[in-house]
Amino acid sequence: MRTVYSFGGGVMHDDPRQKDKTVTGGKGANLAEMASIGLPVPPGFTITTEECVRYLQEGGDFSAELRAEVGKALTHVEQAVGKRFGDASDPLLVSVRSGARVSMPGMMDTVLNLGLNDDTVAGLAAASGDERFAWDSYRRFIQMYSDVVLGLDHGLFEEALEIAKEDHGYFNDTELTAEDLQGLVDTYKRTVSEELGHAFPQDVSEQLWGAIRAVFDSWDSDRAKVYRRLNDIPADWGTAVNVQAMVFGNMGETSATGVAFTRDPATGEKAYYGEWLVNAQGEDVVAGIRTPQYLTKAARVRAGASAPSMEEAMPAAFDELAAVFELLEKHYRDMQDIEFTVQQGKLWMLQTRSGKRTAKAALKLAVDMAGEGLIDEKTAICRVDPMALDQLLHPTLDPKAPRDVLGKGLPASPGAASGKIVLDADTAESWAGRGEKVVLVRVETSPEDIHGMHAAQGILTARGGMTSHAAVVARGMGRPCVSGASGVSIDTKARTVKIGGRDLAEGDVITLDGSTGEIMAGEVPTIEPELAGDFGTLMEWADRHRRMKVRTNAETPTDCRMGRQFGAEGIGLARTEHMFFDAERIGAVRQMILADDESGRRKALARLLPEQRSDFVEIFTTMAGLPCTIRLLDPPLHEFLPHSDEEFGEVADAAGVGVDHLKRRAAELHEFNPMLGHRGCRLGVTYPEIYEMQARAIFEAACEVSAKGGEPVVPEVMIPLVGTRKELALLKNVVDDTAKTVFAETGLTLDYMVGTMIELPRAALMAGEIAEEAMFFSFGTNDLTQTTLGVSRDDSANFLAVYVDKGIYARDPFVSLDVEGVGQLVELAAERGRATRPDIKLGICGEHGGDPASIAFCESVGLDYVSASPYRVPIARLAAAQAAL
Ligand code: PEP
Ligand code: MG
Repeated sequence: MRTVYSFGGGVMHDDPRQKDKTVTGGKGANLAEMASIGLPVPPGFTITTEECVRYLQEGGDFSAELRAEVGKALTHVEQAVGKRFGDASDPLLVSVRSGARVSMPGMMDTVLNLGLNDDTVAGLAAASGDERFAWDSYRRFIQMYSDVVLGLDHGLFEEALEIAKEDHGYFNDTELTAEDLQGLVDTYKRTVSEELGHAFPQDVSEQLWGAIRAVFDSWDSDRAKVYRRLNDIPADWGTAVNVQAMVFGNMGETSATGVAFTRDPATGEKAYYGEWLVNAQGEDVVAGIRTPQYLTKAARVRAGASAPSMEEAMPAAFDELAAVFELLEKHYRDMQDIEFTVQQGKLWMLQTRSGKRTAKAALKLAVDMAGEGLIDEKTAICRVDPMALDQLLHPTLDPKAPRDVLGKGLPASPGAASGKIVLDADTAESWAGRGEKVVLVRVETSPEDIHGMHAAQGILTARGGMTSHAAVVARGMGRPCVSGASGVSIDTKARTVKIGGRDLAEGDVITLDGSTGEIMAGEVPTIEPELAGDFGTLMEWADRHRRMKVRTNAETPTDCRMGRQFGAEGIGLARTEHMFFDAERIGAVRQMILADDESGRRKALARLLPEQRSDFVEIFTTMAGLPCTIRLLDPPLHEFLPHSDEEFGEVADAAGVGVDHLKRRAAELHEFNPMLGHRGCRLGVTYPEIYEMQARAIFEAACEVSAKGGEPVVPEVMIPLVGTRKELALLKNVVDDTAKTVFAETGLTLDYMVGTMIELPRAALMAGEIAEEAMFFSFGTNDLTQTTLGVSRDDSANFLAVYVDKGIYARDPFVSLDVEGVGQLVELAAERGRATRPDIKLGICGEHGGDPASIAFCESVGLDYVSASPYRVPIARLAAAQAAL
């Protein structure tokens, strides 16, 4: 298996592994692809992700084979460029960059200008005829290499740079002369020696291997781990390393560098979109250090900016770039995110990849591209990440609400966010952890801020463009972001911010509109999202292609309505205990639990009956004939117990017994392991009158709604936590008897079903027998995961994150179904259930019913429906379609 692949400079790219992102990473695969379709790509080579994994597993050693392959590939680059690495008269310089399978913006490391030392810097000056450029490149290289490879604080170098500018009375970096920069290089080298006790490496080969090592190691950096966890990227993918001949965007006024998208990644609009800087290196654009210029004239004019666009300043290179955009979109049939450099008038492509986009843009791109014939309807469905829809389903700012606008920045990531100002990522995380909404306000963000960005409702930065770190990461996370708001100044010592001349402090509330870039004082009200347009079109396509039905987990009228509005085709789980928690009812519930005997319980249940009935009337009315699965009481009774003396007092008064007596009863109900205790159908077995009351409420409500002439209601009564056929048989009898009684009383008869949840391994194993009683199964995969893994769903957050970090589980098994383990039980129960009762209805109502990967599994075992919380319904509709395609 090859460990290194060359690209560009006339090599053939004929090994299919080279264009496989799992082998060469996204960047490496696309560089090879671009070179092979004839685009101008500086020559280079890619070290495979497999080598990274091997290196990390084997404790950080390079293999002899890798060393030999890199040597050969480097020779090829030298020949293609006509320069030699380390040549003191005209050196080849390279960039070394990471490139995982999926892009992880800013997470891992990059070194530019590698190959410079005290000798080659003179060669670079002579060959380029530009002393200043050579010394500037060398000082940038030392700074970057020291930070990324040698692990020195980059503030040390920033400080030295600032001092050098101050000494000469300069304002901009560009005012530093070749001599000044040479002096700065000496200072930098001294800093390295003082900090590390050895000199900055002069051996170019040592430099190269140091950088390769740093890229490999960066895969396991803390920030990369956090990013992986947030984005479900497995720890064992590793990163590729790309070593590529440098081209220079900083060789004077005919050179430039930029980042561009073939369409607008925020809105999906069909217009070239990007930023560039004359006489700059790539990192200058993305790092947000200089505010970049617009790519097209139209964008510049729209923004009212004066600095010329690339279209105006470099028309020939721009035309060439526009032609590349068209070619790449046709080739990849998707919106591309591109990095380019113009070196003395000549255009070079450094990267292309499918561009990260907001959910809104993803929808528009999919629908537009299908309309343009670039992709078909099925591809369009598969183009949109179901989870990204979440961004669109949440409220946006009410356009009619008054806005106290403090200032404006770039509309970097759309959506509305209100929260308290926080000035650093750790504060964001800790305040959010205690339940506060926060907006992270920074001069600019860096990869170290990722946890704070995730914890925040929105992000505001004073510097940086639309392609800055903050903007890219915020769009990826679906966080609203306003970037480059120059009217924002931050005093981190005083913990205050000035926005547009107004003084605010950490903790003050602001609102961001990520779609306009406006920053407002206080909280601005929001409105519900618009579900028509591209969203409606794509959902229609998805509905045409999916097999499974999608229901919602809901028990309140609001949730039922919301679920229907989002397209739910019924209720998959109404948790009746949620109705018991109601503040008005809790007294009767407590009286029922603490009663000494059946007659005491029946008295309290009689108080609850009309309330339960009216709940079900509302649900059945709202759902208008759609199927509704109502689950009978599930949680352990002690969850409802009074806590304070006052609460005990209230129940004692209502029940006419003493407080001490009640407290004794409550102590009797205490359980050591309530999740495996007296809950679910075990309550029904021991206190059948509870289920009887609930069944009565269901049937009376169904009769009432049907009698009013609505769509006929077919209640699906569901018994939780069943492990044996007999449990179900016993409780089914209670339900059937109650139905008979109610039908006799009302003179009406209705169809109904009795079924069970499959939440215990025993239930899955005995599904064949249980299906003799059950007309349907609903997989309660929350409990089934808990009971199969022997991991408590309520106590696992602390250690499961570590399990995911260490790759023991690829994802949190309570979020995404453990298909290998729990999945086997689901599949087996489905098979055994169907063997007994071929028309048994099968669904899932655990949280996994809203998780795309789990939904794909449900499709593969042929479930009839998935059920998810209301906001997840559209996600489930799209995921179900993708699973069926
Ligand atoms: C389940 O266990 O998956 C389920 C849906 O029930 P609950 O979450 O209410 O225990
Ligand atoms: Mg359960």
